[in-house]
Amino acid sequence: MRIEIPQKVDNIIETLTGAGFEAYAVGGCVRDVILSRTPNDWDITTSAKPMEIKKLFPRTIDTGIRHGTVTVMIGKDGFEVTTYRIDGEYEDARHPKEVTFCTDLHEDLLRRDFTINAMAYNHKDGLVDIFGGQQDIDRKLIRCVGEATERFTEDALRMMRAVRFSAQLGYSIEEKTGQAIRKLSPNLRKISAERVREELTKLLESPNPSFLKTAYTYGITKIVLPEWDEKEKDGKASRILRSMEASDPDKLIRYSILFDGDEQEAKAVLQRLKFDNDTINGVCRLSRSLYMKIDADEVSVRRGAYKLGRKLFPILLKIRLAVAEGTEDGEALFSKEEIGKTDEIFRMITERGDCLSLKELAVTGGDLIERGMKPGKEVGETLQRLLEIVLEHPERNTKDFLLTRI
Ligand code: ATP
Ligand code: MG
Repeated sequence: MRIEIPQKVDNIIETLTGAGFEAYAVGGCVRDVILSRTPNDWDITTSAKPMEIKKLFPRTIDTGIRHGTVTVMIGKDGFEVTTYRIDGEYEDARHPKEVTFCTDLHEDLLRRDFTINAMAYNHKDGLVDIFGGQQDIDRKLIRCVGEATERFTEDALRMMRAVRFSAQLGYSIEEKTGQAIRKLSPNLRKISAERVREELTKLLESPNPSFLKTAYTYGITKIVLPEWDEKEKDGKASRILRSMEASDPDKLIRYSILFDGDEQEAKAVLQRLKFDNDTINGVCRLSRSLYMKIDADEVSVRRGAYKLGRKLFPILLKIRLAVAEGTEDGEALFSKEEIGKTDEIFRMITERGDCLSLKELAVTGGDLIERGMKPGKEVGETLQRLLEIVLEHPERNTKDFLLTRI
């Protein structure tokens, strides 16, 4: 079997093998190429030790020397080259306390999580697939390398990775792997918020966000997102999952649908998962406005767009459309027709360049002060009042007119 690998990756492999070492592309990139997906990154595994790797390439970065990882820079692209290793004892089901370098590719593949992630490739030896990764791809199955209970005890995050990969690829989780997750999901308590956040986000952004249900049945959400278990009990879960399935695979959109308009919950969860402020603010603002009344007329749309901003307003409409899609007939919260009209009006307003924020007002605080207003609260309040006039009558956004109004 011959796999297409980028020239730069092949060059790195050739350089290493030319110096007498073994080297292969490994893990997610091999899986993705077999699946005709575009890999996020290309990882290389080698028998060379970090210092030996560094000697062979002019530009390298010490990414994780202790764990055997050196990033080799070729042009602007970086490739992680990692020495064959066995992961030592795991601390608190989190990360290996220590790693031991080894000389055998098989041992390196043994430490990997799932069969589909444990294949290696180079042009000389072809595909190295000792655990039946290819067969599991054919069967659309997520299966642990080796004994599932052991693997999840070593690193509890793998349980979330199992559900995430099954959602990304639309695969089932193999029986024993699933049983082990059911039993060991409480261990996710020990996993850091950052690692949980990455996996939960990849699951929600996948083509199958409704696999969150799988995470629920395995007892995963009970630990990492107990808020979801409440929604399952309240009977809200199915509608939310349908809406997520109907929506674009975007972080802001999927999380906003998840929290179903509950801004406080959104904030609490996203802060707990240590999200960046942009994401927290975005999802909170969208949540606050999710069920806000916006009539399909120009003034209401301008007010809505002012409240949310030009970037978030169209996202809100997308979310509402997905919520409408997920709602069963009869309990419709939004009409798709109304949302469509609102969207048209927003586009028209945008094209025409109507003022939608204080920044776009034809008058600034400086203008008011120049005309004798004392700097401070009054300036802000006046600008706000002028903006309200302009939101109602966009044609009045001229300096001449507005200055007659103060
Ligand atoms: P993606 O990059 O699409 O999220 P990936 O499979 O490439 O998926 P990475 O986190 O980039 O995942 O890891 C690269 C490889 O390292 C995996 O394919 C797997 O072989 C191994 N790996 C990563 N995380 C773990 C883990 N927690 N336990 C065991 N092996 C892991
Ligand atoms: Mg990867």
